[in-house]
Amino acid sequence: MKYSLTIGWLYPELMNIYGDIGNITTLIKRCEWRNINSEVKMLNPGFKSEELVNCNLLIMGGAQDKQQTVVNKDLKRVKKELCQMIEKGIPGLYVCGGFQFLGKYYKEADGTIIDGLGVLDLYTENSGENIDRLIGNMVFMPEVKELNKPIVGFENHGGRTYLGRKIKPFGKVIKGFGNNGKDLTEGAIYKETFGTYSHGPILPKNPEFADYLITKALEKKYNSRITLKSLDGSLEDNARLVIAKSLDIEI
Ligand code: GLN
Repeated sequence: MKYSLTIGWLYPELMNIYGDIGNITTLIKRCEWRNINSEVKMLNPGFKSEELVNCNLLIMGGAQDKQQTVVNKDLKRVKKELCQMIEKGIPGLYVCGGFQFLGKYYKEADGTIIDGLGVLDLYTENSGENIDRLIGNMVFMPEVKELNKPIVGFENHGGRTYLGRKIKPFGKVIKGFGNNGKDLTEGAIYKETFGTYSHGPILPKNPEFADYLITKALEKKYNSRITLKSLDGSLEDNARLVIAKSLDIEI
């Protein structure tokens, strides 16, 4: 049987910085290498909610505050459907600005408060001082039993995210800032939804996580256990070692 996946790329033109497009390319290629069909739905402002609900995996990248304000208005139209998908366990990856939308609110650098979807118990505030942005390569250890290698990425955000009691972090910071530069938490996990501050982009640098998302999306769609054919990851492992060395850490 030939499997197929529909990947919903939320706001590809507005929410796509620091190489986030690489997450889509990685998912397509890793499906192709296993003879899995994949189709990418470009969900630009004004997209129809039917297009969204037919997706098996959702991806949203990050953006500057300016684009986030525009996207936030459009996102309100599909809030109900998107929250239902997250609650149903449709897997998704939401990076930085995308991650901030999942929480209760995001206070932008100029003090404007934009309401989030409120589906994750967290909030984000940006103090507005440019000097205070959290920037650099980052490494964190994911708190997901299937993922046993540190995740390497790149972060650049003014917002500080604080998790509430009802939400688990995606991982623990080894190097870098993560959610707020204080409590060593990075990102968040809710059901099969992952929020992270890691651009980089995250999936090509950490293919085990890409495969985890593909597996979960297929399992949900076909309602059966899926084991993906393994692929050679030595190039990515070496790339991670180079980054770790440059950061003076051992992974
Ligand atoms: N504009 C948001 C912030 O500065 C998100 C940035 C991003 O997506 N890299 O916190």
